[in-house]
Amino acid sequence: MDAPNPFLLIIFTCFLFLQNAPFFGVAFSVAFPKAISDKLKYDLQTISLASKDYGLMVQHNPYAVFFPVTGHDVAGLIRFMYMLPVPLHIAARGQGHCVRGQALVDQNGVVVNMTSLGGLRQKTSRIVVTTTSPLGPYADVGAEQLWIDVLHATTQKGLSPVSWVDYLHITVGGTLSNAGISGQTFRFGPQINNVYELDVITGKGESLTCSPTNNPELFYSLLGGLGQFGIITRARIALAPTPTRVKWVRMLYTNFSSFTSDQESLISRDPSNAPDYLEGLLLLQLNAGDKSSFYPLPDQPKISSLVSQYGIVYVLELVKYYDQHSSSSVDQELETLLGGLKFEAGMKFVKDASYEEFLDRVHTDEVALRALGLWEVPHPWINLFVPKSRIADFDSGVFRGIIQKRNLTSGVFLFYPMFKNKWDERTSAVIPDEEVFYAAGFLLSSGFKDWETVDGHGRDILKFCEEAGIEVKQYLPHFETEKDWINHFGRKWSVFRQRKSMFDPKHLLSPGQKIFNV
Ligand code: FAD
Repeated sequence: MDAPNPFLLIIFTCFLFLQNAPFFGVAFSVAFPKAISDKLKYDLQTISLASKDYGLMVQHNPYAVFFPVTGHDVAGLIRFMYMLPVPLHIAARGQGHCVRGQALVDQNGVVVNMTSLGGLRQKTSRIVVTTTSPLGPYADVGAEQLWIDVLHATTQKGLSPVSWVDYLHITVGGTLSNAGISGQTFRFGPQINNVYELDVITGKGESLTCSPTNNPELFYSLLGGLGQFGIITRARIALAPTPTRVKWVRMLYTNFSSFTSDQESLISRDPSNAPDYLEGLLLLQLNAGDKSSFYPLPDQPKISSLVSQYGIVYVLELVKYYDQHSSSSVDQELETLLGGLKFEAGMKFVKDASYEEFLDRVHTDEVALRALGLWEVPHPWINLFVPKSRIADFDSGVFRGIIQKRNLTSGVFLFYPMFKNKWDERTSAVIPDEEVFYAAGFLLSSGFKDWETVDGHGRDILKFCEEAGIEVKQYLPHFETEKDWINHFGRKWSVFRQRKSMFDPKHLLSPGQKIFNV
């Protein structure tokens, strides 16, 4: 447990005093004004919920949790904190689905519970869809909104965002502070490339609107900015006509080079003959007999023996969207799309699903894992971007040399390519310096007692890459030293630091990222 901060104790004492004698407010310049204190909570349950995240590896009790109803409330809090002689911290918390304490603060700070924005109004009242504009259709979305709610609100109008994340029960603000990647990134870029405008409260408490033409420096800082420059309260997100159904395909490969060359050839095609979504995953075990599996029951023994024979089976996952107009031609399109691919004979599996069933697939897993008590467990994840030129070394050193050799079956391992030119260099996001690079996700889970051992595998992966000279970049990055952050940002570091001094000069925001508060 963190020791209570004496300075905050003084404020707290003043606060208690003011609660009983508000007319003394002017005499206590460091006490929270009533407009702020009315929205602060200190009870054990609230503090406890804000003290941990999805990773369950780091815990910090904040001094209090702030429940804003409007952006104005957030601005009031930040302005007040900015004026204090001793810098205190503020962390926006979306769903707290980061894994290494990035949305936490200790006793020297306040967590802003973003999900209270909008107050008691209907949850999705802060999603407003505009169907016609010179920009094309878009949605103005409160940053606290979940992607699943964005999906529901936009599809009602026959539209939806074009670039997604694999899991939709996270907030718009939280993902835009990272990048937002999934199997559509190869075509549309990450989610941060599909935003027209943001409302933000900077670290000085200024409420600003920004876009590529209005306050562009702030706009690009915030995208992928790890919460360092301001609290986003609204995002204008690009929309396109929505499909209603998908053909969802998995093909199994035993040869890494065939797997990746098919992935790359598919994403390089003209959109008319390309998948709408493409990812890849490793299959390290398959217990035949699982009715909820993607793979049909009669095929499971064959797949299982393939896995036993090769240790790792590579799964190319793709999706072709369709709707009522294209339903008669989609099977033919799929056949053309898959023709000539080098997957193992007979190892192609196709499912027909609604667009929502497909997009919300991880939530289906969540429900199953929650039922087994396996969702709220430590998650020592690491996510990397691997330059294409080194993927063969990555396969032999990491997939074969660490994951397979150590029999790490408790987790999901993703591997899929994307193009550098679909990322906007002006944003704060960091990617490798190669035209094609792969997202490699090691989504490990562990018990409460052994997470450090499991986390050690992630450290070994990073160590292997460093020793082999594979210039990976971490996605959802986590570092403990300034030197590592400087190395991570590379040539973007000086701009990142300069932007910090412009927009959050007192280093109030998102200290849990440990960039300026190491
Ligand atoms: P939080 O964890 O609450 O916050 C993350 C960081 O952003 C913190 O530093 C916080 O202070 C800051 N922040 C939060 N809201 C705001 C705001 N409004 N303004 C400024 N800063 C803010 N990511 C992908 O890209 N692709 C995926 O496919 C994907 N899949 C995932 C699947 C699961 C099961 C999980 C748990 C995570 C996944 N993620 C994925 C990672 C996810 O995008 C990030 O962890 C994201 O930060 C989660 O959003 P959140 O609302 O929980 O943010």
